[in-house]
Amino acid sequence: MKNLTADVVVVGTGVSGLYLTLNLPKDKKVIMITKSTLEECDSFLAQGGICVLKDINDYDSYFEDTMRAGHYENNKESVDIMIRSSAGVIHDLVGYGVGFAKHKDGTFKYTREGAHNANRILFHKDVTGKEITSHLLEAVKKLDNVTLLEHTTMVDLVEDKKSRDCEGIICRDRKGEIFGISANFTVLACGGIGGVFKHSTNFPHLTGDGLAVCLKHQVKLQNPDYIQIHPTTFYTEKPGRSFLISESVRGEGALLYDANGQRFVNELLPRDVVSEAIFKQMKKDGTDHVWLSMKPISEHTIKTHFPNIDKYCLEQGYDVTKQNIPVVPAQHYFMGGIDVDSYSHTSMNRLFAVGETACNGVHGKNRLASNSLLESMVFARRAAMQITCTYVFSKRRTESFLEVDAKQYEDYQKLSEEYKQLVLDEIERMKKYHEQHNHEA
Ligand SMILES: Cc1cc2nc3c(=O)[nH]c(=O)nc-3n(C[C@H](O)[C@H](O)[C@H](O)COP(=O)(O)OP(=O)(O)OC[C@H]3O[C@@H](n4cnc5c(N)ncnc54)[C@H](O)[C@@H]3O)c2cc1C
Repeated sequence: MKNLTADVVVVGTGVSGLYLTLNLPKDKKVIMITKSTLEECDSFLAQGGICVLKDINDYDSYFEDTMRAGHYENNKESVDIMIRSSAGVIHDLVGYGVGFAKHKDGTFKYTREGAHNANRILFHKDVTGKEITSHLLEAVKKLDNVTLLEHTTMVDLVEDKKSRDCEGIICRDRKGEIFGISANFTVLACGGIGGVFKHSTNFPHLTGDGLAVCLKHQVKLQNPDYIQIHPTTFYTEKPGRSFLISESVRGEGALLYDANGQRFVNELLPRDVVSEAIFKQMKKDGTDHVWLSMKPISEHTIKTHFPNIDKYCLEQGYDVTKQNIPVVPAQHYFMGGIDVDSYSHTSMNRLFAVGETACNGVHGKNRLASNSLLESMVFARRAAMQITCTYVFSKRRTESFLEVDAKQYEDYQKLSEEYKQLVLDEIERMKKYHEQHNHEA
């Protein structure tokens, strides 16, 4: 089996993987892999925006909004770190050329989404994720120390069983060749788990592979049953990824209606509450969707702030300036994940996890809108810092690669189904555990 070597191997090229790489020393050899193309990751899909602490007077309110949305199950230290680090990340992004919406006088425009008590979200039209991720990707592509491998799937971790050190990963390329990448440090930046669900806003190839390999190697997870359902995705009978109608349209005034044209919920409540109300209403009305009206939003705002949503709905036959659109909740975000400390270190030596695949407890039981791009980057930078500081103590070892039997990865279809099932079983197991625990409490 061929074996590549690197100082750091990063699995995933979304915002978390890219920003981590940009924060590593330029003398370290980094290999980044992605299961698909560089543009096919959820980071490119983010619409609404990214939160920031715009002013110290907003600290308490931002902290409280994050905690309340998370049902107060959030890790307070993580929330504090995220909020205090936010302005630094935004400053960095602007340095990479990210263009957030501004007023004529050059100051930032801030928008609002559900469960926020203040306007504190920076945005770029309704394609904030694409604006951020494409600039980070451009910056990474300029680095001589980084190799980017597309259509390369991590199929396993390689572990030294005695020391419980992660020695690297096993990969499969698009031709089906199996090879190893040994590294001083391994980072899982594999994104969410939407691919294991029938209806999701996520790319279907995001199937929680990071979680599956961690389960296989007894790396600790945290609350894998904490899964966010987004209240408003465009309803269609066509198969494929669900198109998100960003929460910021409700932040800007859009309203929800039942089958009789009546409002039935406060549109700005946290996502889980609004989703629950929609499911109840659909059951009561015997319908597959409810209606969203963007008519309270001015045509100018629709055309300038939400051009992507406007275009998509027009393609589906709906003019949002004049007509209500059918919407239905769908799986959207993963609050649980691979258990990490505040430097994104997992329970296995030399293995880090960042972004949506990791769980440092910042979101609690339910994520506050527009906190995830921020969280991904804040904790990716901390992982890079930790890797940099501990690099001299690490030694690249490849002994365990010699024991790997590549044959076990050859039937990828079978392996991928097994991994999906492993993740689904663990979600179910934890769901039952929480139900029983809450019942007893
Ligand atoms: C439609 C939509 C809208 C959103 N809007 C917002 C928003 O407005 N604000 C906000 O803060 N958040 C938003 N989010 C959430 C946010 O986009 C994600 O949480 C964030 O981008 C996750 O970044 P990431 O780096 O963890 O993962 P991703 O960007 O999803 O990247 C995951 C990477 O891992 C790779 N990968 C996975 N498995 C493997 C494997 N086995 N081998 C190799 N590579 C692998 C993938 O190919 C990909 O490159 C939205 C999400 C969606 C889906």
